[in-house]
Amino acid sequence: MGSPTTSREAVLEAAKKMLADGLVEGTAGNISGRLDDGNVCLTPSSVAYETMTLDDLVVVDLEGAVVDGHRSPTTEKDLHLSVLRRYSEIGAVIHCHAVHATMFALAHEPIPAVIEEVVVYLGGEVPCCAYRGTGTRDLGEEVAAALADRGAALLANHGLVTCASNPEKALHNAALAERTAQIVWGTRAMGAPIVPLPEKVNTDMAGVYRFIRDNP
Ligand SMILES: [Zn+2]
Repeated sequence: MGSPTTSREAVLEAAKKMLADGLVEGTAGNISGRLDDGNVCLTPSSVAYETMTLDDLVVVDLEGAVVDGHRSPTTEKDLHLSVLRRYSEIGAVIHCHAVHATMFALAHEPIPAVIEEVVVYLGGEVPCCAYRGTGTRDLGEEVAAALADRGAALLANHGLVTCASNPEKALHNAALAERTAQIVWGTRAMGAPIVPLPEKVNTDMAGVYRFIRDNP
């Protein structure tokens, strides 16, 4: 079975929705999608999402060499390419700076999987990667390792990264991780202890995640 692929249009649409949904501001964050020919469509560096067009997107090969486009690809391209190189079942990666998720990233604390849909869509808790500098290959390797069995991971002192079969689903994962971080933060603010899901539910639903991921 081949890898899931997507279109440049889907990458652009997810980029604009990411801004509209408040998951990034300004020109922060970036999105990638695997194309039919095996290359990768990336959002460009330093272009506002409001005015971004298909012409601004950049196509690179899996090693990062520009194949098409007149812009520079996002400076975080290694983060995207390391995930897409390693996992053939993944077709899109999103990086954003969602506020509540980033609060957990500052604390180097995972977002716990205490809501059923988190386990189904993200595979379990959202782990926090070891700190590595922005835009480095080392950061890409850390992220790729963390996403072996997860749909989202935190970048220490930085933000959130998610993956899925296409940009729309990767954006859904980002919104879910962000919403969960906000809910967990709020529950803690209530002073109430968070009751974990039954272990069997966690195990069974993690199995569902694996099945969906392997059968995009
Ligand atoms: Zn960033």
